[in-house]
Amino acid sequence: GATIGILGGGQLGRMLSVAASRLGLKTHIYEPGASPPAGEVAHRVTTASYDDVAALTAFGQSVDVITYEFENIPTSALDLLEQLAPIHPGRQALATSQDRLTEKSFLQGLGLTTAPFADVPDMAALEAALAAIGAPAILKTRRMGYDGKGQTRIKTADDGPRAFADMAGAPAILEGFVNFSHEVSVIGARGQDGSVACYDPGENLHQDGILRMTKVPAKLTASQRSDAVLIAARILNALDYVGVMGVELFVTPEGLIVNEIAPRVHNSGHWTQNGCTICQFEQHIRAVAGWPLGDGSRHADVTMENLIGDDMAKLADYAKTDAAIHLYGKAEVKPGRKMGHVNRIFRA
Ligand code: ATP
Ligand code: MG
Ligand code: MG
Repeated sequence: GATIGILGGGQLGRMLSVAASRLGLKTHIYEPGASPPAGEVAHRVTTASYDDVAALTAFGQSVDVITYEFENIPTSALDLLEQLAPIHPGRQALATSQDRLTEKSFLQGLGLTTAPFADVPDMAALEAALAAIGAPAILKTRRMGYDGKGQTRIKTADDGPRAFADMAGAPAILEGFVNFSHEVSVIGARGQDGSVACYDPGENLHQDGILRMTKVPAKLTASQRSDAVLIAARILNALDYVGVMGVELFVTPEGLIVNEIAPRVHNSGHWTQNGCTICQFEQHIRAVAGWPLGDGSRHADVTMENLIGDDMAKLADYAKTDAAIHLYGKAEVKPGRKMGHVNRIFRA
């Protein structure tokens, strides 16, 4: 069978490898860090940096198609790899989602609603942005943030200098604080034939900036639910996207507000492993391998709970319940580290 190259060897790469294997496909993981979780289940692993031209070249030559499990891949590596194999999702999706300023501008350009935002290259720009947008607000680094890292809350305009210092010189954007009632996400997929399939939106609960739990069905009216799916489809089509994408939305009385997009399988889509015939990982592999998309309809209500850091101490208790347990094989437990997740099925 064909070999799929995956940039990144974390839990998402691991679950993509398992799904590929079930379809008779091989995976080759490229990961700079030692003993990646995906390494144990992939057919091949390259441990090398994204500056290693020889390693990247050998990787690119060994695979039929390239995908990724995280969006912060250096541009130089992509320039080299795209000469050797097709990359899905494509460069436009990556460039758009790597930078919060580009991302929010793109979303507004599609006619979608985002939080009010402004570019903050320096302290003068932050003062102007706070005057225009007002407080409360959130200052976020444009690049590389995840799990709430690289962002700081601004309660009043007086917090400006402290918040600016928190960015440590990194280019940032200011976002107006959205008074949402809750957060939902749509996991959408688009195939090479342009067909689109979205999973039922999930409702997300965060704790300390990290996803704690996703529940389906989400608390949404029928029209909000179809709005959410239409928003995701519009984004997928505009990017001529191939693969699975996560679209995070805030629910407000005025409508849905797009927070951010992730050009990959998404933590809030892990429930699909036990709630759907075709989970997000298989759907992504199908799309990037040029297969038709599979049936993503939901056959149960599900709650997905992340096992973060010391939650692992509860593992023995979970094992006695009917929950489906998914562990990532990470040797070392660290605070805030995602170690696994459990899916609970209701009304199966
Ligand atoms: P992820 O791990 O999802 O990639 P991230 O670090 O990229 O997270 P965001 O998703 O932008 O960060 O923000 C993290 C959380 O902070 C959001 O899920 C939401 O709860 C809150 N948040 C972010 N932006 C805003 C906003 N403009 N107004 C209100 N709350 C916000
Ligand atoms: Mg993010
Ligand atoms: Mg987010």
